[in-house]
Amino acid sequence: MRIYEWHANCCSPVAFASNDRVLLDGMDCAGGFVRNQRTLAAAVTCSGVGLHSGQPVTITLRPAPPNTGIVFVNQNGAAANPSVVASIKHCVPTELCTAISGNGFQVKTVEHVLAALSGLEVDNVYIDVTASEVPVMDGSAAPFVRLIQSVGVISQDRKQPFLKIMAPLEVSDGSRRVRIEPSTTSRITYSIQYDHPLIKTQTYMHDCSVSAFENQIADARTFGFLHEVQALWARGLGRGGTLDNTVVLSKDGIVNTSGLRFFNEFVRHKVLDLIGDFSLLGMSVIGHIVAERSGHALHTRLVQQILDQPEKWMLLNAEPSAEGTRALPTPRLQPAVALQAS
Ligand SMILES: [Zn+2]
Repeated sequence: MRIYEWHANCCSPVAFASNDRVLLDGMDCAGGFVRNQRTLAAAVTCSGVGLHSGQPVTITLRPAPPNTGIVFVNQNGAAANPSVVASIKHCVPTELCTAISGNGFQVKTVEHVLAALSGLEVDNVYIDVTASEVPVMDGSAAPFVRLIQSVGVISQDRKQPFLKIMAPLEVSDGSRRVRIEPSTTSRITYSIQYDHPLIKTQTYMHDCSVSAFENQIADARTFGFLHEVQALWARGLGRGGTLDNTVVLSKDGIVNTSGLRFFNEFVRHKVLDLIGDFSLLGMSVIGHIVAERSGHALHTRLVQQILDQPEKWMLLNAEPSAEGTRALPTPRLQPAVALQAS
């Protein structure tokens, strides 16, 4: 075992061995941002309906080699089976969800399965999809987490690159904002405000780890207001939404008779969405994300902002390999839509 002292303001990126101990700005971070890439031990499959399309869909998560990233593969019967990497450069503005598009096909509502993979630190996976939307399952990331846990995760022989934030970045839209600032760990602080007695102001602080994601975030379900849900249906959206996959808020309570999973399930789900959206960065991030009344559009704008300003971060563990170091995505994101979603 070697011991490094690595200073954020003066040291160059260093590739550490997995058993090295790293003193980062005086803090012991061994086992935190120094790890190998990971994939699934075996393929897993689940089926459901798309939240917005209402269409039946099956996805299969398959192991993938190091430096693959998360790749969606179209299995809807097309002969060529086009694929698209879950990267910010393939992110497209859509209403009420995060979607990626490329090579002739689009897949919507990717954020919950991406959150499950990111939360469990699974870096390389092929996701076969039989339709253009990921199944909503119960509206949370928990079904995907259980699916992944059923086969397990294995370590691969490449280091996982980390992007360490060195200077703050922020994007905003009126009173909505999200920023990322330097930190010795990966953290999220999320605040939401709704004029509803069950929400009002909720703030949640999440220290990113596999166990914290599994126990505190994965089960939080998507939510919507009854009048908004009815308006969505009128516009042909949310066709797969039911009380089995969405927490629906009435004027002064919730419609679901099963109740809430956490009193602050709403803000926890926003953290879940942010984790999924931030995975479009293509690598783990070391920094403190602070979100206020934010949503998918601002999350993905900040991801693009980070990539547009490389002088504000540095890469750790970006080791060369036979396949070449996984490249950072660089193309600009298309203008974000104004609509926010949960
Ligand atoms: Zn969501």
